[in-house]
Amino acid sequence: MGVFYQKEIETMSRKELEALQFERLKWQINRCYESSPFYREKWEKAGFKPKYLNSLADVRNIPVVTKDELRDEQAKYPPFGRYVLAPRSEWRELHPSSGTTGNPVNTIWSERDVNSITEVTARMMWGFGVRPGDIIQNGFSYGLWVAGMSAHYAARKLGCFVIPVGAQLSKRQIEYFKNPGSDVLLCTPSFALHIAEKMSEEGISPNEIPLRIGAFGGEGGTENPSTRSRLEAGLGIDAYDFYGLAEIGPTFAAECTEKAGLHWAEDHYLIEIINPETMDPCVEGEIGVLVISHLTREATPMVRYWTNDLAKMVVEPCRCGRTHARSPGGILGRADDLVVYKGAKFYPSQVEKVIRGFDCLSNEFRIELTYDEKRGVDVCTVIVEKVTEIDENVFIPQLKKALKEELMVTPEISVKPFGYIERTAFKAKRLFDLRKK
Ligand SMILES: [Zn+2]
Repeated sequence: MGVFYQKEIETMSRKELEALQFERLKWQINRCYESSPFYREKWEKAGFKPKYLNSLADVRNIPVVTKDELRDEQAKYPPFGRYVLAPRSEWRELHPSSGTTGNPVNTIWSERDVNSITEVTARMMWGFGVRPGDIIQNGFSYGLWVAGMSAHYAARKLGCFVIPVGAQLSKRQIEYFKNPGSDVLLCTPSFALHIAEKMSEEGISPNEIPLRIGAFGGEGGTENPSTRSRLEAGLGIDAYDFYGLAEIGPTFAAECTEKAGLHWAEDHYLIEIINPETMDPCVEGEIGVLVISHLTREATPMVRYWTNDLAKMVVEPCRCGRTHARSPGGILGRADDLVVYKGAKFYPSQVEKVIRGFDCLSNEFRIELTYDEKRGVDVCTVIVEKVTEIDENVFIPQLKKALKEELMVTPEISVKPFGYIERTAFKAKRLFDLRKK
């Protein structure tokens, strides 16, 4: 198979790809309109009918779907809402969202959905260099979370040997690096950094283990140059970004070995980048909110799902030869994680970029927003951990200067000893808004 897993699909011209997307989008729109009262009512209210879809660009006339809407729909029509379009006999798996911000949203995978999710995930894993016979240490959480299952199925499909260790904080993660000697690690980037930290504490050098590849999802950050170099040096690997989300599906975008941004599986997913203020499509390279439509999903299809994730997109072919669009830099933040402080706006990912550039600091950090009643002002404090002794009188002004350059505003700094911030095997929470609302 060489460089590509599905060469014909991965290298088709934009024109062919867009024609395929349009055919599939029409199929999806028609079935949603005919069989889902949820979509039909929503679209009628917005004045949209399937016959108005005459080109791919017309997709922008369809209203977006938000997570709150899905939650309301499922509360009104429990447990799955009125947009399940596969017959009950075809249902195979239930995957609710993690529910960190309200009631989880239920998603169903049909037999056909499981197959296409497996195929796309296998394509992504092949793209970052996984090959038959590799030992895959799957540190994505198993169970309800989508990525554990999809990566497991794909690893098997590729002819790999899977260690389904899951997202558990344990010495086993490091033991499996040594014996049987995992080739590939899959987990969240914050968990990978934590494992690397433990390895270093135990005096194990990355040279002693055969681990070759790490692909990290569930959170952004892997493509942040200072984070990537910490992951690569700490584990002795090539580190790749991997992306998915519960409502849309797992592991359907990943970097290729060129490390040139997330490649989207555009034959199964229609990817748009939308300016959240104007709701117009962003121009190539402009940052906006990812809006995703399922072109082939059967059971619980999403048409124009508003992910709240920020990214930019380019369509020029990658050096690897793939023609599917890419998002360089990966996920750049969550639209709802935007910090507005003293007139400046920034995302936690920008703080991460600065902090990971300082060798005297650990991988962990927190951003706290508090309200100073005496002065009547908001205070933003960045809490960091030192890994070596530092002169804070010298260091804090240096860090403030670097943050000011990136954020256009100067936060307060609090330096804590190593280990102060709690570690996680799942997604790290960085932003804490402690202001009384
Ligand atoms: Zn590529």
